[in-house]
Order: sequence, then structure tokens, then C-alpha cells
Amino acid sequence: MINKFRKISLGNWILIGMILGLIFGLILNFWVHDPFIKNVIFMDNIFYLGGNLFIKLMKMLVVPLVFCSIVVGVASISDIKTLGSIGGTTIAIYLITTAIAVTIALAIGIIIKPGLGLNMAFAAQNANVTVNQTMADTILNMVPDNPFNSLANGDMLPVIIFGLLTGIILAKLKEETKFFNQIFTEGNRIMMEMTSIVMKFAPIGVFCLMARTFGGLGIEGILPLSKYFVCVLIGLAIQAFVVYPSLLVIFTRLNPIRFFRKFMSVMFFAFSSSTSNATIPLNIKKLSDLGVSRDVSSFTIPLGATINMDGTAIMQGIAVMFAAQAYGIDLGTSALLTVIFTAVMASIGTAGVPSVGLVTLTMVFNSVGLPVEAIGIIFGIDHIIDMFRTAVNVTGDAICTIIVSFRNKAMDIDIFNGKKEPKKEKHIL
Ligand code: ASP
Repeated sequence: MINKFRKISLGNWILIGMILGLIFGLILNFWVHDPFIKNVIFMDNIFYLGGNLFIKLMKMLVVPLVFCSIVVGVASISDIKTLGSIGGTTIAIYLITTAIAVTIALAIGIIIKPGLGLNMAFAAQNANVTVNQTMADTILNMVPDNPFNSLANGDMLPVIIFGLLTGIILAKLKEETKFFNQIFTEGNRIMMEMTSIVMKFAPIGVFCLMARTFGGLGIEGILPLSKYFVCVLIGLAIQAFVVYPSLLVIFTRLNPIRFFRKFMSVMFFAFSSSTSNATIPLNIKKLSDLGVSRDVSSFTIPLGATINMDGTAIMQGIAVMFAAQAYGIDLGTSALLTVIFTAVMASIGTAGVPSVGLVTLTMVFNSVGLPVEAIGIIFGIDHIIDMFRTAVNVTGDAICTIIVSFRNKAMDIDIFNGKKEPKKEKHIL
């Protein structure tokens, strides 16, 4: 019996934790009415502690893991041209997939019309959301004023830039900086080991996160917005299960089913935690189990978690159509093109943490003159939508990473196809 349990993979344990958490949360929501048992014991203590403890552990890994692995990865690539080509293709694919995502969302919004006939009276109070960052600011903020501050605050883009520069210089100075290279290589090894240990707690963490979300979720909040909700889910499903598999087949001829079977646990984790950033360590690890070289994924995954948010872009596209229809505003072709452009920019500006997509949505609304108060309407159900879109966000990062590694021969196809065991730390480039 115990042996049988031992044979269950971590991915399946995460799935089990998720389903049990969902069931337990729903039971708590509908059948437990004693506020002490429900709120004090479970919601605010056991689940809150279990869920947040796990997210904090994952977040704890992110900065040192990302920094060390970018430095080591870039130092081992050494060829600046290869690096430039990897960076350029990655950013291009990230932007293109996001543009596809918004376009799909707008089409769904036009066909299903989620905001039509909506009773605006139930519009909630204004969500207090604003965003002031311009594109120039975003670019400027990529360069750290003080790299130690960026590391301490977990600001991903400056950390990535500083890691890239350090890696390039280590590659250039080779023998002279052997000692530092060794430190980062060992640091990377330590962080990978720590990730494996922390991940063992994932099923419990995911259980608590799910139980807390569904224990407190009022179904009545979803009902008036069910059309909006369904539209977003359709958009996310198309992106995840049509667009991504097609890209994978077109560019790599790899089997998407094989990909999803192995990658599901990353999607479940992103779903339960609603944060791409905290999912970075698991995403890198799973891709390495799929044969992708860490030299590439350690750079592309943190970058994707910061600038590539296809799921968020889908929510934003649908939200635009929803609000325009609810307020009876007609959006012409040029307004729709503006939405596509600003949603791609918003995706770059959206940090991989819970709910930020709703904040950057103001930028998209402002670009076409939609009333920002409309965001207040969808505010109530955004938490659950955030879960779904984060799962799509991390999948987009992974698909792009596979395509880029494949094209740069930084991927072991035999490992992907299950013909070979995943290697321990090994540089393919
Ligand atoms: N929670 C999302 C993520 O971490 C961002 C968002 O759309 O709010 O990817």
C-alpha cells in the first residue's frame, strides 16, 4: 500500500492536493456555518498559513535561483551571437503570442457579446486601480540603479539584466574569474536542490490554497458575470490547447500531448497560486525534465514570467469588449488595433503576481477611452479568473522556451520523448 503511494509522481500529488482542496473548500463553504470553525480555525489559520507558507517558500527561491542560473547559463553560452539570437527570438515570440491572444479575445468578445444587456445597476464600487508607468519608464526601470536593491526587492527585469551582464563578463574573462564562476555554479546547484525539497510540500500548499479560495468564494458573485467568465475561459482554452500545441508542432514537430502530460503540474501550481513569479523554479525544473537546457530556460522563463502574459492579455481583451458593450460604446477597427497594441504593452508591464493584470487593464481601457469604473464590475470574480490566466501565462513561457531551445539545439529530444532519463545539471550549449 505504502509502496503504491510512493509510486505516485509529484505532479499527480499536486493534482490530488488541488482536487481535495477544492472539495474541502466547497464543503466548508456550503455546509459549515459556524464562523469560528470555518473562518477562525480553517480559513484564517490552517489554510492561510499552509498556503502562504508554501508561496513564501517558493518566492524565497526565485531571486537567488534566477540570478545564479542566469549567470551560469549565460557564462556557459559564452557566444554573444547565440545569446543575442536566443534573446531576440524569445522576445519576438513572446510579443507575437500575446498579440494572437488579444486578437482571439476580441473576436470572442465580438461573437459572444458578454456585456450585452448587462444591468449596470449592480456595478460594484470603483476598483481602486491606477497605473502610471509609460513605455519609456518601463525600459528605464530595466536597468538597476543599484543591483543589490533590485535583488533585495525581487525586481525581475533589473535582476535579469544584471545577471546577463555578469554572465557575459564571466564568459569573457574565463580563467581570471574562475573563482566567481565556481561560486555561481555551486550557488545554482544549491538552489536547484532547495527547489526540489520545497516542491515536496507542493501538494499540501496547493491543497490549502485551493481550500481557502473555494471556502470563501460566493457563487452568487459569478452568476451575473457568467457570460464574461465563460468568454475568458473559452479564450484561455483556445490559447492553451489550440494555439500553443499548433506552435509546438509547426516549429518543433514535438508531441503536444507529451508536453501537457508532463507540464500539467506546473499549470496546476500556477492555477492554485495565481503567480507566475513563484512558479519560475518549478517551470525551469519541469522543462529540464522535458529535455530543455537550463542555460536557456533560466533566462527565458524569468523573462517570460515578467513580460509574457498571454492569459492576462485574453482577460483584458474580453474585458474591453465586455465594458464597451455594457456601456454601449462602439469600438471601431482602429480602437481594436489600439487595444491589441496596448494589451501587449500591458502584458510587458504586468508583474507575475496575483491580480496585477487588473491594474494594468486601466492602461488598456484608457487607451480607447473606456470608463475605468467598469473594472469595478469584474473585480469581484477576478480572483478565480486570475487562477486560470496564470496557468496559461506560464504555459506560454514554457512553449516559447521549448521552441527557442529547439531552434538553438539546446534541447535533448530523446529526453522529451521519454527515450532517455532527464540529465542532472548539464550544459548542452
Ligand atoms: N497573476 C498573473 C500572473 O502571475 C498576473 C495577472 O494577470 O494578474 O501571471
